[in-house]
Amino acid sequence: MQGIYIHIPFCHRKCGYCDFNSYASLDTLVKPFVEALHREIAQSPYAGERFDTLFFGGGTPTYLSGETLAGILEHLRRQFDIASDAEITCEANPGSVSREQLRTMRHAGFNRLSFGVQSFDPDELRRMERIHTPEDVVQGVEWARAAGFENLNLDLIFALPCQTLERWESNLRQAIALQPEHLSLYALMLEPNTRFYHLYQKGKLRLPDDETQVAMFRLAQQLTAQAGYRQYEISNYSRRGYECRHNLIYWRNEPYLGFGPGAVSYMGGKRWTNIKHPREYIRRIQSGEPLELEWERLSGWDPVAETLMLGLRMLEGVDLTTLEARFGLPVREHYAETIHKLIQRGWLERQGDTIRLTQEGLLWHSEVALAFFKE
Ligand code: SF4
Repeated sequence: MQGIYIHIPFCHRKCGYCDFNSYASLDTLVKPFVEALHREIAQSPYAGERFDTLFFGGGTPTYLSGETLAGILEHLRRQFDIASDAEITCEANPGSVSREQLRTMRHAGFNRLSFGVQSFDPDELRRMERIHTPEDVVQGVEWARAAGFENLNLDLIFALPCQTLERWESNLRQAIALQPEHLSLYALMLEPNTRFYHLYQKGKLRLPDDETQVAMFRLAQQLTAQAGYRQYEISNYSRRGYECRHNLIYWRNEPYLGFGPGAVSYMGGKRWTNIKHPREYIRRIQSGEPLELEWERLSGWDPVAETLMLGLRMLEGVDLTTLEARFGLPVREHYAETIHKLIQRGWLERQGDTIRLTQEGLLWHSEVALAFFKE
């Protein structure tokens, strides 16, 4: 499988915890950005290649009008061989969608929406500097269903400042009550260069302790399972058949092409990142300069370690024989000791040639990944 990612870098306001490549107050760049994006797509050396998933992320893709998003999608279809059953996702901010916009998008062929809900609690939303209210979420989901979207994801964040287990439970229950096909439930990460990070450094941000964070994760597993969702990745849960195919491409370390500022591509073993700032992105497109900020060709054991790191995020785990065939390297022999130690520690389990994280290991994924990179 191969996927395409489109990065829309605009937001109405920068959220306090966000370190994504997104910018507020760049309205004047929207038009030249859209033109530049069309040009980047038109110049792709991968024209005519087959792609199975498209994902519009950001930033806030729904900052753009339904017609503009439809125009980009149409251009991608002209340029590439997009599978007739392709999963076509757009991230949506509940505070920036309209009934008409969602109708236009569905009509154009978008078939999956991922709402950045984050919380149903007005205080938590305010603290995060989100632009939407809990009512906007309910309305957005209603409009999406009325427009014909049959595949919805809701993103929630837990371990928020001052969040209690009870509040998290209430958020989860409200999300489940809206009956989305998919839920992404991430713990808050404090990233440098965010307002939250600086507040934390100054001792002004009170976060739930480790024990509460683990209880929140376990509660998410429990409530989603009771409601019929299957956890298929550390932070992702879905109804059967509604796993996010685009993200599965990342976790299986399969090829993808990225367009837009800061977008990452991984094709033919080479990975590269576009220049990040939209202004510079537009300038380079206009002057015909290369967009690549950095690139690397993965070789030796690096792509194997990466595939293990990403693949172990999925509860299905990684099949070592398949990995050996894919990279032509003696994976089982090379990692025998590491795998043995991780099993002893209770973080990995092995069934035949498939290794996967245990329930305890799900909490320690980064340490497990590190162990494979140390080899
Ligand atoms: S809406 Fe999303 S991308 Fe934009 S600032 Fe907030 S978290 Fe970041």
